[in-house]
Amino acid sequence: MRIIFFLILSLLGCSPKMGIIEKKEFVLGTLGEVICVGNRDLCRESVKRAFQEMERLEDILSYFKKNSDINLLNNSQGSPVSVKEETFEVVKKAIEISQKTEGAFDITVSPLLKIWGFYEREKPFPEVPLELIKEKLPLVGGDKIILEEMKKTVTLKNSSMAIDLGGIAKGYIVDRAIDILKKAGVKNALVNLGGDIFCLGEGKDKRGWRVGIQDPLNSQKIVATLNLKDKAIATSGQYENFREIQGKRFGHIIDPKTGYPVENNILSVTIVADNCLTADALATAIFVLGKEKGESVLQDFSAEAVIITRAEKGEHLWVSPGLKGKISYY
Ligand code: ADP
Ligand code: MG
Repeated sequence: MRIIFFLILSLLGCSPKMGIIEKKEFVLGTLGEVICVGNRDLCRESVKRAFQEMERLEDILSYFKKNSDINLLNNSQGSPVSVKEETFEVVKKAIEISQKTEGAFDITVSPLLKIWGFYEREKPFPEVPLELIKEKLPLVGGDKIILEEMKKTVTLKNSSMAIDLGGIAKGYIVDRAIDILKKAGVKNALVNLGGDIFCLGEGKDKRGWRVGIQDPLNSQKIVATLNLKDKAIATSGQYENFREIQGKRFGHIIDPKTGYPVENNILSVTIVADNCLTADALATAIFVLGKEKGESVLQDFSAEAVIITRAEKGEHLWVSPGLKGKISYY
């Protein structure tokens, strides 16, 4: 009887060994989530290992962790630093993306994030740091980072420079967690790190993973969902992380050219790409560049986007052509 029951279940593709394993944990100061569909034992073990990998990478790439490569670099006073392969890879990718986005994406904006108070969010910030912006702007620029491929060293040319991978590390870490799952033999899974997501395989119901795009003006609402398979998705907005100075809101995405937090009519940029590092960084870059320039960047990276802008009556949604057929509106 038991055997027959087991057989029927296997024929239906849902033997007791198969199922869905879901785990949530805090990583990189945000909520991490891994969902794995398939053999339960395999899923349980690989989900655990995916989280271990994410934590390992956080220790290397975080701006805040004391012994991270980033902290070492930011205290290096202009001398070369031998970094882990992973750090080298992310910094190299960040520079490439900077070059392909007219410098809109730039990990050297860190000194500006500091003077705008984004590293000490509990402290009140009384005024716009006009003088400091002038002083810190010369420290910004991807060309001031020197990479030595053979030695795997990174040098920040100016001793007062600093870098912050906040706009790219989450995406990279999602990709690495997916690698761990794939190598273990997992075919169907989702990794989500604070909204930076990779959708591997067919999803829970074999009809693709459905990912919601949040309404930037109402966190309780979803404006659309995308149906994704083997794709990454990431969103940037100024609506969650901002500082208020004399009643005015300043968001955490800095325009490297002006030193000011970006102010335009964009409410959020969602990018769909083949990997999450690209999706993460391009969301930030296109937020800076705006929709027109953003469109040509999308083409360069074979990426797609949903850009939500402020309109006279509420919001306007722009959807790139490649997403038609994958998007459902609410
Ligand atoms: P979130 O961290 O909320 O997902 P983003 O992916 O858009 O948002 O990344 C924003 C973070 O990127 C900022 O908190 C900061 O660390 C960093 N950053 C800000 N401006 C830039 C920029 N122009 N280029 C690269 N990184 C940036
Ligand atoms: Mg980003």
